[in-house]
Amino acid sequence: MSTPDLTVLAGPTAVGKGTISRRLIELYPEVYLSISATTRSPRENEQDGIHYHFLTLTDFDAKIKNNEFLEWAVVHGTHKYGTLREPIEQAQQNGLRPLLEIDLQGARILRETVPPGAKFLFLAPPSFEELITRLGIRGTESVEDRMRRLDTAKQELASQDEFDHIIVNDDVEDVIKELAELMNL
Ligand code: 5GP
Repeated sequence: MSTPDLTVLAGPTAVGKGTISRRLIELYPEVYLSISATTRSPRENEQDGIHYHFLTLTDFDAKIKNNEFLEWAVVHGTHKYGTLREPIEQAQQNGLRPLLEIDLQGARILRETVPPGAKFLFLAPPSFEELITRLGIRGTESVEDRMRRLDTAKQELASQDEFDHIIVNDDVEDVIKELAELMNL
């Protein structure tokens, strides 16, 4: 039996991937939003097993060794983030459509490792200035952290052409419509 293809949604920090994917799963219950593992600490409003699986570095490294990740990367030069293989395969066996919100490095790894048919989408801000504004508004990071994230964002924005489609995030409902069409939902 063939399993549903996965969709990768990449894009710079603070571009709104979280908002978009939450809205998408509200409207399309057949979408399975992947919960990544990370070694970073939870933010105030984040819960283990819902927003991320928060792991110690030791536990994360043990899972790397056991080949439990579909992909993993050090993001913003600080913490490890990765997609666990098992829940994705489980979702696919259940006929669900996995959606992975990951960074550029992870997207590049999956390009090489997952079967053809996977879709690689890039969520872009309307402009770089708008991205800076959104990052400022979030206010959950220190100044150094924001600078580091902006640095990564510049590199990510330069990679847009590697993706199958670029979606500009200027209006949530328009983005959802475009995304649903691209995923054949
Ligand atoms: P944050 O710390 O703001 O939650 O996430 C930082 C970045 O980590 C996000 O922009 C996201 O693209 C990336 N990220 C989240 N989960 C994963 C993952 O499982 N794999 C990879 N490669 N990157 C991830």
